Amino acid sequence: MTGKAVLALLLALILAVFAGCASPREPETIQANAPNADEPESDQQTNPAQTESPEASQEGSAGSSGEEEAGEAEEQPKRPERIVLDTVYDDQRVGEDQVPVIEAELGLVDDEELNRFVRSVAVRLLRHAPTRPFDYEFKIVDQSVPNAFALPGGKIFVSRGLLALATSEDELACVLGHEITHAAERHASAQIEYNRRINPLAIGLLRVAKLAAYGREQERDADRGGQMLAARAGYDPEALATFLRKLDAAERYEVGWSRIPRFYATHPTSPERSALATNRATTLEWTPVPPVSAEHPGGYYGAVDGLILGDDPAGGVFDEENRFIHPELRFSIRFPQGWTTMNSQQAVRAVSPMRDAQAELTLAGKSDEPLSKIVDDFIDSEFEGMKIRVRERREIKIGELPAIRIEGRTTSMGIGGLAAQMTFVAYGDFVYRLTVLSVSDSGTRFRGRARAFAHSFRPIEEETVRSLDVIRLRTARALESETLQELSIRTRNALDLVYTGVLNGLYASTQLAHRQPIKIGIKEPYLPRLEPTEDEEQPGTAEKSDVILEAPTP
Ligand SMILES: [Zn+2]
Repeated sequence: MTGKAVLALLLALILAVFAGCASPREPETIQANAPNADEPESDQQTNPAQTESPEASQEGSAGSSGEEEAGEAEEQPKRPERIVLDTVYDDQRVGEDQVPVIEAELGLVDDEELNRFVRSVAVRLLRHAPTRPFDYEFKIVDQSVPNAFALPGGKIFVSRGLLALATSEDELACVLGHEITHAAERHASAQIEYNRRINPLAIGLLRVAKLAAYGREQERDADRGGQMLAARAGYDPEALATFLRKLDAAERYEVGWSRIPRFYATHPTSPERSALATNRATTLEWTPVPPVSAEHPGGYYGAVDGLILGDDPAGGVFDEENRFIHPELRFSIRFPQGWTTMNSQQAVRAVSPMRDAQAELTLAGKSDEPLSKIVDDFIDSEFEGMKIRVRERREIKIGELPAIRIEGRTTSMGIGGLAAQMTFVAYGDFVYRLTVLSVSDSGTRFRGRARAFAHSFRPIEEETVRSLDVIRLRTARALESETLQELSIRTRNALDLVYTGVLNGLYASTQLAHRQPIKIGIKEPYLPRLEPTEDEEQPGTAEKSDVILEAPTP
C-alpha cells in the first residue's frame, strides 16, 4: 500500500482534514446557514471573500493534526510577509509552491498516454510562444467539471472534465494556448500584490484559485493569444469559439457541479466572447497539420476514450442509503439517513436536515503509531479552530477493530461550544476519526446517532468492491438518420440526454449523420487500482502537475 494511488488517496483524506481546517465557521454554519442547506460547500469553495476573513486565517493556523505538514502549512514560515511577482523567477517559484497544493487537493489523472497526448499538443503550441525562462508543465487534474488554469511560471492544468467536453484537438489546443498566454504574458504578476490576493493562511485551493484571478482584459488577451498560437501551430482558431459555446451550454446544464471552482466560474464566458473569437478566427491564417491524435483510430475521441465521467469511485462513493464505500481503502461507513452528504476531494461528511449536526470522516494518522498517542495528540491540539474538553474517553471495539471513543464539548473563541463525539479507529494502514459535532442543546439527541455512525465503520468484502460501477467516456457511431435519443437508447448511454447533447455540442432532436461519432457514457464495473501491482510505479516518474485555476474576476 505505498503506491502513488495510495498517496493520492491519503492526500485526499488529508484534505478532508484541511477542509475541516478551512471551515472554522462550520460550527457556526450548522446553526446559522439553514437557507444554504442545499449547497453547504459552495460558499466556502467559491466565495473569495471568505478566504480573506479573519476566521479563515485563524483556522488555517489552528490545524494541528500532524498531517498538515503534507500540505501548505510548511511553506508558510518561509514566505515573506509581502510578495510581489517582480520577475519571471518569482513566477516560477510561486508556481512551484502551489503545485503540490493542486495535486493534493484535486488529484491528478495518471494515465500516461493521455498525459503524453496533452503534452504533445502543448509542445506544438509552445514552439510559437514567447520564450520564457521557466519550465512549462502540463498535467490533467482529476476534476469531473471542465476546468483549466495556469499557475505563474507555466504550470498548466486541464481537468478530465474539460477533455471530455472538448470535441476536437483544435479545441484543446485553443484552451491550452489560452492558458499558455496567461502564463507567458505574466498575467498573474500584473495583479499588484500577491499577498493581497492570497491570504497565506487560506486553504490551498482557494489560494491557488486567486492566483489566477484574471481581469477581463487579460481574458481577452488570453483568447487572442491562444487563437494565434493555435493558428500558428496548425490548429483551427475558430475552435475556441465552439469550445466556449459548449462551456456556456455546460454551465446552463450545471447539475451537480456547484461545489468546485471550474472553468466558467473562473473565466467568465459569454456569447460575446465566443462571437468575438469567431470573428477573430476569420482574420487568422492557418494551415492545418495532421493532429497528434491522428495516431488514434478514433482521432481525438480515441485519445480521450475511457475517461471517467462524473465521480471516480477511487475517491469513495455514496450509495442510495448514505453508505460511503471506499474501494481502495477497503471500508464502508453509513452516514445518518436523510442527512446531506458531501464527498469531494476535500471532505467526506454529512449534515443533518436542520443543520444542527454534522458527521465527518477524516484521516487521523497512520496505524503504525499507537492509537492512544494519536488520540492524546489530537486532544492536545486544536482542530478546526477549537479545542475539545473531554468528558469521557474509553477504549472500544468497532467490530474487531481497536478504537477509542471520546465524548465532550468543544470550546473556541467566539463560537458557542458544540457537543462532540469522536471515535478513532485503526484499520489497515490508517487511523480514521469519525466525528459528530452538534449544537450544544441537541448533544444528547445525537449521541445515539453518533455511536451508530461510528459502529457502522467496517472493512468491505471484495464483492462489494466489485459491485461498484464507473461511467467512462466512449464513442458510438450513429446509424442512418438516428437521433441522439435513439442512439442513447440503442447504446445504453448512461448519461442523460441533455448532458449527452452538451458533451457533443448537439441538440437532443438533431438528426445525426451516418457514422457520426457521438460521445456517450458507458457504465462499467469498477476495477480497484490498488491491486498489488504497484512496483511498476516509480517515484521518479511521478510528474508534478501544474494547474491554474482561473478564479472569478472580481
Ligand atoms: Zn483565462
